[in-house]
Amino acid sequence: MVKHCYLKYPWGASWCGMLLFAGKKNILVDSAVEEAFSPFLKNSLAELHLKIEDIDLVVNTHGHADHTGMNELIRANSNAGILNCSNLPENYIIDGGDYQLQILHTPGHTGDSVSFLELSEGILFSGDAIEGSGSRFAGVALYENAGKLLATIEKIRTLYTQNKIQKIYLGHAYHGTCGILEKDEIIPFLELSRKMVLSYDSFIKGLSENLTLAEQAELLRQEFSVSESVLCKKSAEITVKAHINRGEQLC
Ligand SMILES: [Zn+2]
Repeated sequence: MVKHCYLKYPWGASWCGMLLFAGKKNILVDSAVEEAFSPFLKNSLAELHLKIEDIDLVVNTHGHADHTGMNELIRANSNAGILNCSNLPENYIIDGGDYQLQILHTPGHTGDSVSFLELSEGILFSGDAIEGSGSRFAGVALYENAGKLLATIEKIRTLYTQNKIQKIYLGHAYHGTCGILEKDEIIPFLELSRKMVLSYDSFIKGLSENLTLAEQAELLRQEFSVSESVLCKKSAEITVKAHINRGEQLC
């Protein structure tokens, strides 16, 4: 059995998820925000009888600051390496000694998004790669490319139907989940995400072309979000752009 621990650092109205694989090598997937370093990470490791110095490697699902925030602090306080996985080839294997993590390119949320699949038990950490709704602050889902996000959702669905994925850990409380998708929850979650992207698409298509990007984003936010945070308004602009620039028909 692969020893792993899901760490959730409380952050604003939500939390940042990280997954620590503990074995011959201790690999931390995502590093939340900088302020999670002390006491949160230190105390979480202590409960597992580990210290910061015991982390061998940090990998990140993408470059957003709420997934890479502790990289430099961990590096400065240990001998941990930081591996930039977005430049590595599809299916590249990271060897943990007694477990292996496979890199899957899962763009859409950002162009550099990757997910990590633990091969023996089918544990996937997807970060923000398959969100379609209920984002970090109950706002509009945030993604840069709608077509690529749908392709990523389809890719995860295919791996699931091939029995390669048994459980998924998410980067935040997407769709109001606790961040963990057990096997029977995976397809409904993917379908909900897919439908949300298509709902956004038809809503944005129905808006007047005379509206500015900010005006379209505000209408999207009012239609689909309960959050009025500044961050949510910015996210909505990125997501509107992801639909305006999509170029191809979504399905
Ligand atoms: Zn993100």
